[in-house]
Amino acid sequence: MGPYRIRIIGDPVLKQRATEVADIDGSLVAIVDDMLTTMYNAPGMGLAAPQVGIQKRFFVYDWDDRAGVLINPVIEESRGEWVFEEGCLSVPGLHWEIVRPKEILISGYDLDGNQVQIEADEVEARLFQHELDHLDGVLLVEHLTDEQRKEARRALRELALREPAPPRQVGLGASLGLG
Ligand code: ZN
Repeated sequence: MGPYRIRIIGDPVLKQRATEVADIDGSLVAIVDDMLTTMYNAPGMGLAAPQVGIQKRFFVYDWDDRAGVLINPVIEESRGEWVFEEGCLSVPGLHWEIVRPKEILISGYDLDGNQVQIEADEVEARLFQHELDHLDGVLLVEHLTDEQRKEARRALRELALREPAPPRQVGLGASLGLG
C-alpha cells in the first residue's frame, strides 16, 4: 500500500473523534507498518491514525529509537505542568510554546492485544498527549493562547486553505514534528 498522505489542518477528518479499535488483526499490523513509514518519511516522532484519514483510536510513535504503537489509549493519570515548543505534522512549519501536564500514565494495547502501561515524562509525555488529542479531533492550535492565535491567524488560514498536496518536507527542529 505504501506510505500515506498526511492530512493538513482544514481537513475535516482531523476534527472528528475516532472510534475504538474493535479487532487487532493482520490488517491493522499492515496499516501500522505503513503509518510508521509515513511518520519516518515526514519526519515526525508520532503519527495518529486520523492524520492519514483513518478514524480509529491508535497512533504510532518512535521514542528512544524504538518504534511503538498504542491502541485505544487512555491517560490514566497526569501530573504537573510543563512548557514545550510543540509542532504537528498536520500543521506544517508552525510551532508554539504550549503548556500541558509534565508526567502522565497512559494505558492501551499493543499489536499482540496485550495491555500496556507507560509512565512518561516531559517530551515523551508530550508526544503521547499530542497524539491522543488527534484521536479526539483536537489539534494543537486549540491549545494556543489568544495572543498566539492572533499572531498565527494568517499562517493558519493559508494552511487550512491549501489544496490536498503531497506532504511537504518539514525540518525536524529539536522540538518540532511531534506528529
Ligand atoms: Zn499532530
